[in-house]
Amino acid sequence: MATKVKKVYLASPRGFCAGVERAIKMVNLVLKKHKTPIYVRHQIVHNRHIISDFEKKGVIFVEDVNDIPDGSVAVFSAHGSPPNIHDQAKKKKLKIYDAVCPLVTKVHMEAKRYVKEGYYIFYIGHKNHAEAVGVMGEVPSKSIVLIDSIQTAEKIKPPQTDKLIILNQTTLSLDDVKEIVNHLKKRFPKLILPPSSDICFSTQNRQNAVKELAKKSKTILIIGSKTSSNSNRLKEVAKKYGAKSYLIDDKLEIKNSWFKKVQSVGITAGASAPDYLINDLVDFFKKKGAIIKELTIIKEHIHFPLPNNL
Ligand code: SF4
Repeated sequence: MATKVKKVYLASPRGFCAGVERAIKMVNLVLKKHKTPIYVRHQIVHNRHIISDFEKKGVIFVEDVNDIPDGSVAVFSAHGSPPNIHDQAKKKKLKIYDAVCPLVTKVHMEAKRYVKEGYYIFYIGHKNHAEAVGVMGEVPSKSIVLIDSIQTAEKIKPPQTDKLIILNQTTLSLDDVKEIVNHLKKRFPKLILPPSSDICFSTQNRQNAVKELAKKSKTILIIGSKTSSNSNRLKEVAKKYGAKSYLIDDKLEIKNSWFKKVQSVGITAGASAPDYLINDLVDFFKKKGAIIKELTIIKEHIHFPLPNNL
């Protein structure tokens, strides 16, 4: 494939976040500690390559805990699981390792705490996304409602308007959430937010890095799977900031036609995309003679500790 691309801007931070890094480390350690097969409930992280690499090592991915044989070893995904799933696992005597990201756990705790204090929760998130299901499952359904758009925010009729709080999925677009929050605040002046944002630092950093990329290049390649919420948000942010972007699983998906008149390309990756896929893509442009320039907006030094049982 011939390209005229002379410069590649590489966003930093990009790719793996602390929660994904921890979840993947956990599955590898569980594989070392126990005989295969081991089971993982839901995709451990939303990335096609990671899933198929683990399948080759003897991991079986299931959506329903009932598909796991009693007494087996199982890992729960980074997106978090509702309490009824933990109860089911207990009944089936599964040996569970929970790879839920600590920042998702924070939202689970907030949901429980605020409902106990009498609040009604507006949960901004994507319907049926594993993280949303996990958080919403923590509290009675009469005390929480899912808001997935401005349109829903316009129609929402809470049972009371004195004690309302907004929680949200960790991987949403900061700008979209702000818009929905502002809208809801106009309708419900007593509405409060938790003390610190639920949108996690890695999501914020990767979105801010894409905004910088969009200033440098109007074509942006995002490594990430279509099922990855935070990768899809990067695509939306790129669009909002005037760049055409392509969400690809790996370099094999790029097309000649994208680069016909393009001299510079921005590259980033969702929080569940492994480094080797990003490096492959960068190498592709390097081999064609492009200069690679890293655009660093912030350095991330956060690593989450592993659970005690590993
Ligand atoms: S994107 Fe954020 S919340 Fe999700 S796993 Fe990564 S660090 Fe945790």
